[in-house]
Amino acid sequence: MQPTVLLFDVDGTLVTTCGAGRRAVERAFELRHGTKDVLTFSFGGMTDKAIVRSGLLALGRTFAGEAELAQEMEATLAFYLEVLADEVAHTRIRIHDGMERAMDMAEARQDVALGLGTGNIRKGAEIKLGSVGIYHRFTFGGFGDDSIERPPLLMAGARRGADKLRVPIEECRIVVIGDTPKDVAGAKAIGADSIAVATGMHDIAELEACEPTAAFVSLADEKAPAALFGR
Ligand SMILES: [Mg+2]
Repeated sequence: MQPTVLLFDVDGTLVTTCGAGRRAVERAFELRHGTKDVLTFSFGGMTDKAIVRSGLLALGRTFAGEAELAQEMEATLAFYLEVLADEVAHTRIRIHDGMERAMDMAEARQDVALGLGTGNIRKGAEIKLGSVGIYHRFTFGGFGDDSIERPPLLMAGARRGADKLRVPIEECRIVVIGDTPKDVAGAKAIGADSIAVATGMHDIAELEACEPTAAFVSLADEKAPAALFGR
């Protein structure tokens, strides 16, 4: 089998956080900026930094330049991490059907690297997945810390996965597993395969319209292992 790097999205894909992430961003904005009313947009498929940046720009404040805006993003994300742990502690996070099986199968194979490809900043992903005891299973990833945009962070994850397999990245099959059109687009942008799962906000028809490599209602589908690992 071709060496394979799996990059799993977090929210809507591995788990449902029942809005804990959104509530944490809203509380962070209230604490740091006195309002959450600027957060009128859907967070789906957006990286943490893109969400915070959009919120900050919607405040109508002027920033001296990109450096000052970046500084304020960091400060807001620090508040976010503080309240995220509290939100997650009060929320029943659920692992989606088929994910445990996929993780088990990936870990049993020498030629598969099991990683994350998520817009979450790494500590946020750790809080969310750690609450259901699965963060430690992903020994590397591409995170929101790597880039505000999805394709570069997916590429960062792909490189780390290839390093883990000790194989040049050109020889690896990269597979992005996600629940939004942005995951599929990100995968295509880096030349990766994509598996879309309709466990988030998008139904199977919407995901199929993006022409992923494969699309399933959930990863519990009997055809999912072949899509993940090939034949
Ligand atoms: Mg997602």
